[in-house]
Amino acid sequence: MDQIEEFVDERQKAWCIHCGGWIVELETNRDHVPSKSLLRKPYPTNLPVVQVCKACNEGFALDEEYLIGFLGCVLAGSTDPNRQDNPKVERILRENAKLRARMDRARTEYQTLGGETRSFWKPETERVNRVIVKNARGHAFFEYGEPMLTEPEHVWSAPLEGLTSEQRAAFENIGSGGLLPEVGSRMLTRVMTGQDLSGDWVIVQDGIYRYAVAQFGVMLVRSVLFEYLATEVYWSE
Ligand SMILES: [Zn+2]
Repeated sequence: MDQIEEFVDERQKAWCIHCGGWIVELETNRDHVPSKSLLRKPYPTNLPVVQVCKACNEGFALDEEYLIGFLGCVLAGSTDPNRQDNPKVERILRENAKLRARMDRARTEYQTLGGETRSFWKPETERVNRVIVKNARGHAFFEYGEPMLTEPEHVWSAPLEGLTSEQRAAFENIGSGGLLPEVGSRMLTRVMTGQDLSGDWVIVQDGIYRYAVAQFGVMLVRSVLFEYLATEVYWSE
Protein backbone atom coordinates (compact mmCIF):
# COMPACT_ATOMS: atom_id res chain seq x y z
CA MET A 1 0.00 0.00 0.00
CA ASP A 2 1.05 3.61 -0.37
CA GLN A 3 2.19 5.46 2.71
CA ILE A 4 0.02 8.49 3.39
CA GLU A 5 0.93 11.23 5.86
CA GLU A 6 -1.84 12.80 7.85
CA PHE A 7 -2.09 16.17 9.47
CA VAL A 8 -4.87 15.76 12.00
CA ASP A 9 -4.82 17.31 15.44
CA GLU A 10 -2.14 15.66 17.58
CA ARG A 11 -4.37 15.96 20.66
CA GLN A 12 -6.67 13.33 19.17
CA LYS A 13 -3.89 10.82 19.71
CA ALA A 14 -3.93 11.10 23.50
CA TRP A 15 -6.32 8.18 24.07
CA CYS A 16 -6.27 4.50 23.23
CA ILE A 17 -9.08 4.25 20.66
CA HIS A 18 -10.28 0.96 22.17
CA CYS A 19 -10.45 1.50 25.94
CA GLY A 20 -10.21 5.29 26.13
CA GLY A 21 -7.14 5.00 28.37
CA TRP A 22 -4.83 8.03 28.52
CA ILE A 23 -2.10 6.77 26.23
CA VAL A 24 0.92 8.54 27.76
CA GLU A 25 0.34 6.65 31.02
CA LEU A 26 0.04 3.27 29.37
CA GLU A 27 2.47 1.03 27.61
CA THR A 28 1.65 1.45 23.95
CA ASN A 29 1.97 -0.68 20.88
CA ARG A 30 1.65 0.01 17.20
CA ASP A 31 -1.33 -1.95 16.04
CA HIS A 32 -2.01 -2.81 12.41
CA VAL A 33 -5.46 -2.15 11.01
CA PRO A 34 -6.62 -4.55 9.86
CA SER A 35 -4.80 -6.96 12.14
CA LYS A 36 -2.07 -8.79 10.27
CA SER A 37 -3.55 -12.10 11.37
CA LEU A 38 -6.46 -11.49 8.98
CA LEU A 39 -4.13 -11.08 5.98
CA ARG A 40 -2.07 -13.54 3.96
CA LYS A 41 1.72 -13.60 3.54
CA PRO A 42 3.53 -11.86 1.93
CA TYR A 43 1.99 -8.88 3.75
CA PRO A 44 1.46 -5.61 1.91
CA THR A 45 3.95 -2.87 2.75
CA ASN A 46 2.92 0.27 4.67
CA LEU A 47 -0.07 -1.28 6.37
CA PRO A 48 -2.11 1.27 8.31
CA VAL A 49 -0.96 1.48 11.93
CA VAL A 50 -2.48 3.13 14.99
CA GLN A 51 -1.08 3.59 18.48
CA VAL A 52 -3.10 1.67 21.07
CA CYS A 53 -2.44 0.46 24.61
CA LYS A 54 -0.63 -2.82 25.05
CA ALA A 55 -3.52 -4.50 26.87
CA CYS A 56 -5.90 -3.74 24.00
CA ASN A 57 -3.33 -4.72 21.39
CA GLU A 58 -3.01 -8.16 22.97
CA GLY A 59 -6.61 -8.45 24.12
CA PHE A 60 -8.05 -9.13 20.66
CA ALA A 61 -5.74 -11.99 19.68
CA LEU A 62 -8.05 -14.86 20.66
CA ASP A 63 -11.08 -13.35 18.95
CA GLU A 64 -9.02 -12.74 15.82
CA GLU A 65 -7.81 -16.32 15.86
CA TYR A 66 -11.41 -17.46 16.20
CA LEU A 67 -12.57 -15.32 13.27
CA ILE A 68 -9.78 -16.35 10.92
CA GLY A 69 -10.34 -20.01 11.86
CA PHE A 70 -14.08 -19.73 11.40
CA LEU A 71 -13.85 -18.04 8.00
CA GLY A 72 -11.27 -20.61 6.89
CA CYS A 73 -13.60 -23.48 7.80
CA VAL A 74 -16.57 -21.89 6.08
CA LEU A 75 -14.60 -21.21 2.89
CA ALA A 76 -13.06 -24.69 2.86
CA GLY A 77 -16.43 -26.26 3.82
CA SER A 78 -14.58 -28.26 6.46
CA THR A 79 -12.85 -28.09 9.84
CA ASP A 80 -10.18 -30.53 8.61
CA PRO A 81 -6.73 -28.86 8.74
CA ASN A 82 -5.68 -30.77 5.62
CA ARG A 83 -8.41 -29.12 3.59
CA GLN A 84 -7.41 -25.52 4.33
CA ASP A 85 -5.62 -23.46 1.71
CA ASN A 86 -4.69 -20.77 4.26
CA PRO A 87 -1.63 -21.97 6.25
CA LYS A 88 -2.72 -19.88 9.27
CA VAL A 89 -6.07 -21.62 9.43
CA GLU A 90 -4.40 -25.00 9.02
CA ARG A 91 -2.10 -24.23 11.97
CA ILE A 92 -4.93 -22.92 14.18
CA LEU A 93 -7.01 -26.06 13.58
CA ARG A 94 -4.05 -28.37 14.11
CA GLU A 95 -2.81 -26.74 17.30
CA ASN A 96 -6.10 -25.89 18.95
CA ALA A 97 -8.36 -28.93 19.35
CA LYS A 98 -10.85 -27.02 21.49
CA LEU A 99 -11.28 -24.35 18.87
CA ARG A 100 -11.67 -26.97 16.17
CA ALA A 101 -14.35 -28.69 18.25
CA ARG A 102 -16.18 -25.35 18.55
CA MET A 103 -16.05 -24.99 14.78
CA ASP A 104 -17.51 -28.47 14.41
CA ARG A 105 -20.39 -27.50 16.67
CA ALA A 106 -20.95 -24.34 14.64
CA ARG A 107 -21.73 -26.41 11.59
CA THR A 108 -25.10 -27.90 10.68
CA GLU A 109 -25.43 -30.14 7.65
CA TYR A 110 -28.63 -30.25 5.70
CA GLN A 111 -29.97 -31.82 2.53
CA THR A 112 -31.09 -29.61 -0.32
CA LEU A 113 -34.25 -30.53 -2.25
CA GLY A 114 -31.95 -31.87 -4.94
CA GLY A 115 -30.38 -34.26 -2.41
CA GLU A 116 -27.08 -32.40 -2.02
CA THR A 117 -25.46 -32.11 1.39
CA ARG A 118 -24.73 -28.51 2.33
CA SER A 119 -23.44 -26.85 5.46
CA PHE A 120 -24.80 -23.98 7.45
CA TRP A 121 -22.29 -22.27 9.78
CA LYS A 122 -23.30 -20.20 12.75
CA PRO A 123 -20.56 -17.91 14.07
CA GLU A 124 -20.18 -16.76 17.68
CA THR A 125 -21.47 -13.30 16.98
CA GLU A 126 -19.97 -11.57 20.01
CA ARG A 127 -16.45 -12.67 19.13
CA VAL A 128 -16.86 -11.78 15.47
CA ASN A 129 -18.28 -8.38 16.42
CA ARG A 130 -15.37 -7.55 18.72
CA VAL A 131 -12.94 -7.98 15.82
CA ILE A 132 -15.16 -6.04 13.42
CA VAL A 133 -15.52 -3.11 15.83
CA LYS A 134 -11.81 -3.15 16.65
CA ASN A 135 -10.90 -2.80 12.99
CA ALA A 136 -13.68 -0.25 12.36
CA ARG A 137 -12.28 1.97 15.14
CA GLY A 138 -8.84 1.63 13.60
CA HIS A 139 -10.06 2.49 10.09
CA ALA A 140 -12.05 5.53 11.31
CA PHE A 141 -9.06 6.80 13.27
CA PHE A 142 -6.50 6.14 10.55
CA GLU A 143 -8.53 7.70 7.75
CA TYR A 144 -10.30 10.56 9.58
CA GLY A 145 -8.32 11.04 12.79
CA GLU A 146 -11.51 10.47 14.79
CA PRO A 147 -11.29 8.37 17.96
CA MET A 148 -14.67 6.59 18.21
CA LEU A 149 -14.59 5.95 21.94
CA THR A 150 -18.28 5.12 22.46
CA GLU A 151 -19.98 1.85 21.63
CA PRO A 152 -21.18 1.84 18.01
CA GLU A 153 -24.90 2.04 17.40
CA HIS A 154 -24.88 -0.73 14.88
CA VAL A 155 -22.64 -3.72 14.12
CA TRP A 156 -23.56 -6.11 11.36
CA SER A 157 -21.96 -8.83 9.26
CA ALA A 158 -23.25 -11.31 6.67
CA PRO A 159 -21.97 -13.31 3.73
CA LEU A 160 -21.81 -11.14 0.60
CA GLU A 161 -23.44 -13.90 -1.42
CA GLY A 162 -26.53 -13.71 0.83
CA LEU A 163 -27.28 -10.11 -0.17
CA THR A 164 -29.84 -9.33 -2.85
CA SER A 165 -28.48 -7.40 -5.84
CA GLU A 166 -30.01 -4.16 -4.46
CA GLN A 167 -28.48 -4.74 -1.04
CA ARG A 168 -25.17 -5.55 -2.66
CA ALA A 169 -25.19 -2.37 -4.74
CA ALA A 170 -26.07 -0.28 -1.66
CA PHE A 171 -23.32 -1.95 0.34
CA GLU A 172 -20.65 -1.42 -2.31
CA ASN A 173 -21.46 2.28 -2.64
CA ILE A 174 -20.74 3.86 0.73
CA GLY A 175 -22.01 7.24 -0.47
CA SER A 176 -20.50 10.22 1.27
CA GLY A 177 -23.33 12.44 -0.01
CA GLY A 178 -20.86 14.38 -2.15
CA LEU A 179 -19.02 15.67 0.94
CA LEU A 180 -15.25 15.67 0.83
CA PRO A 181 -13.32 14.33 3.83
CA GLU A 182 -11.86 16.89 6.23
CA VAL A 183 -8.68 18.74 5.23
CA GLY A 184 -5.63 16.97 6.63
CA SER A 185 -7.26 13.54 6.76
CA ARG A 186 -5.76 10.57 4.97
CA MET A 187 -9.13 9.92 3.37
CA LEU A 188 -9.01 13.30 1.62
CA THR A 189 -5.53 12.47 0.29
CA ARG A 190 -6.87 9.17 -1.01
CA VAL A 191 -9.87 10.81 -2.67
CA MET A 192 -7.60 13.38 -4.35
CA THR A 193 -4.89 10.94 -5.43
CA GLY A 194 -6.75 7.64 -5.74
CA GLN A 195 -4.08 5.94 -3.58
CA ASP A 196 -5.05 2.31 -2.86
CA LEU A 197 -8.64 3.14 -3.81
CA SER A 198 -11.03 1.18 -5.97
CA GLY A 199 -14.29 3.15 -6.06
CA ASP A 200 -15.05 3.89 -2.40
CA TRP A 201 -12.85 1.06 -1.17
CA VAL A 202 -9.33 0.96 0.20
CA ILE A 203 -7.80 -2.28 -1.03
CA VAL A 204 -5.47 -3.62 1.67
CA GLN A 205 -4.88 -6.99 0.02
CA ASP A 206 -6.72 -8.00 -3.12
CA GLY A 207 -9.33 -10.68 -2.43
CA ILE A 208 -8.39 -10.75 1.28
CA TYR A 209 -9.34 -7.45 2.89
CA ARG A 210 -10.85 -4.14 1.80
CA TYR A 211 -12.59 -1.36 3.69
CA ALA A 212 -14.51 1.84 3.12
CA VAL A 213 -15.07 4.69 5.57
CA ALA A 214 -17.36 7.70 5.27
CA GLN A 215 -18.22 10.46 7.69
CA PHE A 216 -21.41 12.41 7.06
CA GLY A 217 -23.25 12.96 10.33
CA VAL A 218 -22.49 9.30 11.09
CA MET A 219 -19.16 7.52 11.01
CA LEU A 220 -19.75 4.56 8.75
CA VAL A 221 -17.17 1.80 8.28
CA ARG A 222 -17.58 -1.23 6.03
CA SER A 223 -15.20 -4.06 5.27
CA VAL A 224 -15.09 -7.27 3.24
CA LEU A 225 -13.00 -10.22 4.43
CA PHE A 226 -11.87 -12.81 1.88
CA GLU A 227 -14.51 -11.42 -0.52
CA TYR A 228 -16.90 -13.43 1.65
CA LEU A 229 -17.86 -11.64 4.84
CA ALA A 230 -19.40 -8.18 4.55
CA THR A 231 -19.34 -6.05 7.70
CA GLU A 232 -20.77 -2.69 8.71
CA VAL A 233 -20.37 -0.53 11.81
CA TYR A 234 -21.69 2.94 12.48
CA TRP A 235 -21.68 5.59 15.13
CA SER A 236 -24.03 8.55 14.96
CA GLU A 237 -22.67 11.80 16.28
ZN1 LIG B 1 -6.59 0.33 25.34
